[in-house]
Amino acid sequence: MTISDTNENGLDAATLISEESRASATPMMEQYIEIKAANPDSLLFYRMGDFYELFFDDAAEASRALGITLTKRGQHMGHDIPMCGVPVHAADDYLQKLISLGFRVAVCEQVEDPAEAKKRGSKSVVRRDVVRLVTPGTLTEEKLLSPSESNYLMALARIRGGGEAQYALAWIDISTGIFRVAETGEDRLLADILRIDPSELILADQVFHDAELKPVFDVLGRRVVPQPAVLFDSASAEGRMTRYFGVGTLDGFGTFGRAELTAAAAIIAYVEKTQINERPPLGRPERESAASTLFIDPATRANLELARTLSGSREGSLLKAIDRTVTGGGARLLSERLMSPLTDPARIGERLDSIGWLMDEPDTVSSLRQLLKRVPDMPRALTRLALDRGGPRDLGAILQGLAASRELAEKLAHAPMPPELSAALKTLQSLPSGLEEMLAQLLADELPLLKRDGGFIREGAKAELDEARGLRDQSRRVIAGLQLQYAEETGIRALKIKHNNVLGYFIEVTAGNSDTMTGTPEAKARFIHRQSMANAMRFTTTELAELESRIANAAGEAVAIELAAFARMVEAVVAEAEIIKAAARALAVFDVAAGLAVLAIERAYCRPHVDDTRAFRIEGGRHPVVEQALFRQGAGPFIANDCDLSPAAGGSFGGVWLLTGPNMGGKSTFLRQNALIAIMAQMGSYVPASEAKIGIVDRLFSRVGASDDLARGRSTFMVEMVETAAILNQATDRSLVILDEIGRGTATFDGLSIAWAAVEHLHEANKSRALFATHFHELTVLSEKLARLANVTMKVKEWQGEVIFLHEVGPGAADRSYGIQVARLAGLPDSVVARAREVLTRLEDADRKNPASQLIDDLPLFQVAVRRDQVKAGPSKVEELLKGINPDDLTPREALEKIYALKKELGNG
Ligand code: ATP
Repeated sequence: MTISDTNENGLDAATLISEESRASATPMMEQYIEIKAANPDSLLFYRMGDFYELFFDDAAEASRALGITLTKRGQHMGHDIPMCGVPVHAADDYLQKLISLGFRVAVCEQVEDPAEAKKRGSKSVVRRDVVRLVTPGTLTEEKLLSPSESNYLMALARIRGGGEAQYALAWIDISTGIFRVAETGEDRLLADILRIDPSELILADQVFHDAELKPVFDVLGRRVVPQPAVLFDSASAEGRMTRYFGVGTLDGFGTFGRAELTAAAAIIAYVEKTQINERPPLGRPERESAASTLFIDPATRANLELARTLSGSREGSLLKAIDRTVTGGGARLLSERLMSPLTDPARIGERLDSIGWLMDEPDTVSSLRQLLKRVPDMPRALTRLALDRGGPRDLGAILQGLAASRELAEKLAHAPMPPELSAALKTLQSLPSGLEEMLAQLLADELPLLKRDGGFIREGAKAELDEARGLRDQSRRVIAGLQLQYAEETGIRALKIKHNNVLGYFIEVTAGNSDTMTGTPEAKARFIHRQSMANAMRFTTTELAELESRIANAAGEAVAIELAAFARMVEAVVAEAEIIKAAARALAVFDVAAGLAVLAIERAYCRPHVDDTRAFRIEGGRHPVVEQALFRQGAGPFIANDCDLSPAAGGSFGGVWLLTGPNMGGKSTFLRQNALIAIMAQMGSYVPASEAKIGIVDRLFSRVGASDDLARGRSTFMVEMVETAAILNQATDRSLVILDEIGRGTATFDGLSIAWAAVEHLHEANKSRALFATHFHELTVLSEKLARLANVTMKVKEWQGEVIFLHEVGPGAADRSYGIQVARLAGLPDSVVARAREVLTRLEDADRKNPASQLIDDLPLFQVAVRRDQVKAGPSKVEELLKGINPDDLTPREALEKIYALKKELGNG
């Protein structure tokens, strides 16, 4: 990416790293070229003093991306060397921008003291090395991460041996230490990846180039980063894992399949590759089974706007609407739960118990949240400290987090809590008090960002430090006294003692006064000349030089003491990494439960009843996002609606609701709200309804809204059909299916036929619980043949030629769509509206002569033999005639006449 073939400065990548190029390079350039050659796909941040410099193509690309000036630094092989640089202290900001633009950055530091290099000869170059590769999935800096979002690195492994290929995913959040693995399959690969939504996905080169998987990787775009096959070597996977975790065997980790182990080891290999010498404190890998989470396919996830809207913003998503957490860790846990709802009623029940308990304890909730607001991001601070990227404020964060945890544990100690919360409390109670005491005793109240200059150890905490600081500060006072003394001695009132990095301390007088300092031999001996400026002259004295070295020594000693204390504190923190992470998780559990309790009270949500049946009965259901939007806009109340797809008494399968109604009537809103209520219930949240009974949903599918995917060569209609196909092929009798207007993107009869067949298939083959919204009113006749299908409609009122949307769902079928009224509301020209009305009248007349409702009698059902007794046709003419005959009353001739009449009637029929 960064060494392109056509270097705009005429020096292409191959030439730059060629022998000839190296041979003609200056020693520094030679070093640069060597490091660059080892990191061809990253921008190289090459440390020079207080700057990271970029050269050649890297410089050109970075200057364009960052909007910084491109300069030159000498020549190489007859070409100017393009250069640009970013100051080290602001590097995070530039890194953030580059990473978000999809670049990867290799950070190259000086790894020896320049003084050491000088010892080897005046021309020798300071040794440098890449200390870290910054990639989207391995970030740890506060500035580069969003507090409320996890940042996942994922590995995909494929094992081919004999039978079918096995697939597994492993993912970590390096900033918090989360480490998970799960098996997956080719058919659910994209869904599983998008559930985690990693910012970087690594896989072996050959998997990346597999044509069959291309569609998956196309969706993920630049997040996919192919890696050499050695990272995915399954034979060495176990060894890599045991080495990283410092254990003799993985037996204690649980059982993993070969593919899972390979994916996990690939993650470790990549961490080692990018973090070079540092080891982030990763937790042991935890296994997730596919059956334990609600399967949501990629289209459904996008359409339902769970974590992001279709346009990509967080605002307007379900997550945003239900998030009342007050900590970063809480927000991340909530998001994790929303992305992976559960399928086990017992675990869901535990989460609901927590919320319910907190709702009854408003005082506990408010003091809990007050405390939580003070909780900093412990796991992320911990990771930075472990990776030697942390500062005093990260130690401060650990201290504050430990203190808040202890207070919380004390406060809740005697409350009898439901299991999830009491387990979390137990974790908080088991925190070691020694660490908190140590940090509290050593750390100052106000902490600097960097450890470099010291100033973070509390006064009085260390006698030797106080002494060094005293000496340093005292000497500074002595210097101030010296300035007074020299001013008096020389009679120059404007004499000043100043300090800079080049000269250290020096005496400065204006040029006009310089004679006084150099006039007499005594003065000349006393004031040693250092520097002449345009308007000033600078001197030193032996006294001043001595004082200066005393100050420097004392200051240096103070910093050294502080740095040693810093290292000891980091060591103590890292030694407790596991328990600190567990405490952070426990705090997040409290935060999520309290947040959902606050939400449930604020918005009058109810506790859903979740079990193993196939029930789906929602009373007074509302759309969680639309309801809040209407409330904020003051746009009137949200009309609550019921939905009941539960099996009829004695029946085994759930129902299908066919929803008709006017445009703008609220059909889509109703469909989505029921899907969202199912998701919320299974993530373990209260739901926007007055009552909800939900039998576990195993898979959720929705096809709503129309969008095209031109990049992948699919038209709107094609996308619609692909999504519909996925549903009809995969939905089970435990699934919930939401279909909004299928078959709209093609000719009317084609669309109607497809919708018709799809409803039949859902009802007869999938037997899923389903909501089907349509403008094909012809479909409503299906209720005559499909036993579990019911017609419902969105009610409207017509008043003085205007339509009024009641947003109310009731039994029945709509006879019209009011499309023209809506078009008029939207501002179509009057002439067009009038003409449309005319055309509609004609079309409806024509339609009546050939009523589509006849279809129901003409078409045998999809793949099912219809039982005659289910068809409620009226008696025929022949039957009526026969009924009217009393054979005993007939003469032979009358009988013959009747037979002729019947024959005739049959011929007519
Ligand atoms: P179309 O057939 O044109 O796609 P629709 O029937 O799917 O329309 P929606 O998009 O669901 O209609 O709803 C239209 C608008 O009506 C929404 O933007 C929302 O503001 C409002 N609305 C929908 N349902 C309700 C409700 N239950 N209570 C109040 N307002 C509602």
